[in-house]
Amino acid sequence: VAKDLGRNRYQFYSPAMNERIRERLMLEIDLRRAIERGQLFLNYQPQFAFTNRLVIGLEALARWQHPTLGLIPPDQFIPMAENSGLIVPIGAWVLETACQQQAAWIAEGLIDGPMAVNVSMHQFRQPDFIERVTDALSRSGLSACHLELEVTESVFMQDLDRVMQTLEALRSLGVRLSIDDFGTGYSSLSHLKKLPIYRLKIDQSFIQGLPLDQENAAIAGAIISMGKRLGFEVLAEGVETQEQARYLHSLECDAGQGYLFARPMAARECTDFLRDGAGATPAPS
Ligand code: C2E
Ligand code: MG
Ligand code: MG
Ligand code: MG
Repeated sequence: VAKDLGRNRYQFYSPAMNERIRERLMLEIDLRRAIERGQLFLNYQPQFAFTNRLVIGLEALARWQHPTLGLIPPDQFIPMAENSGLIVPIGAWVLETACQQQAAWIAEGLIDGPMAVNVSMHQFRQPDFIERVTDALSRSGLSACHLELEVTESVFMQDLDRVMQTLEALRSLGVRLSIDDFGTGYSSLSHLKKLPIYRLKIDQSFIQGLPLDQENAAIAGAIISMGKRLGFEVLAEGVETQEQARYLHSLECDAGQGYLFARPMAARECTDFLRDGAGATPAPS
């Protein structure tokens, strides 16, 4: 705790802060038990092709149902899991669960695309990460081509040789790789052209306000044309309006994910969604 606070911050120490630290520590203890107590679960959000507005894949998004605090979003517990190392068992659980679910949906004929799973930098850098992935695939019977791993640009910041080896190994397994929150990190263009990546996911902050927001229109347009010319598929995150969808389609963005098409859903709800003909959202005329 003292280390967390930093040496020159003791003057701000107050009973209220003490209380906050205590709450955070308690939450971390709770998170440690959350997997075994069955409090973690996944939501699934479909991804759509702009051309025909059909589902092309799903993304698994972690949720924590806390017994007294209620539903805790990943933005609150994933950073905590990353700092404490708990992201390794949690990430393994997410991977296993998502692969099992996708194998079941594929077996039922409800979908034929990949399931995307978010992988944090710490998890990606574990020496046994590839083994975790192959285990999750073999235990679930999911084919590698039906698994997509999303990493953020932070993964490319250190030790690029090792990162490249891991990426190449995953690609030779047949797993798809995508860069999440693209545009918000630090990946250099010289790295980008070498990476065995399948898809760029444009961060939702650049999709907001399209097409009127001039800056975002410039950034989104540049990412799409660069990404496509480098041979990547490009997906827009956080698509909320028909205007955004129409504009992104006109820029030849391949795919979109967002509340316009579908919200993240619990497994049962997502089953119904996929069964009802994948809820194709009619394109505006
Ligand atoms: P992300 O991977 O970029 O996921 C997209 C986030 O945008 C999700 O938030 C999703 O619910 C939200 N979203 C989708 N469509 C829209 C939209 O139209 N508008 C807006 N405003 N938001 C939209 P969520 O589920 O709260 O997840 C937040 C972040 O937490 C994720 O961002 C990801 O970085 C992280 N995360 C979630 N699950 C996992 C996991 O299993 N492992 C790891 N390492 N990180 C995870
Ligand atoms: Mg993601
Ligand atoms: Mg994102
Ligand atoms: Mg993110």
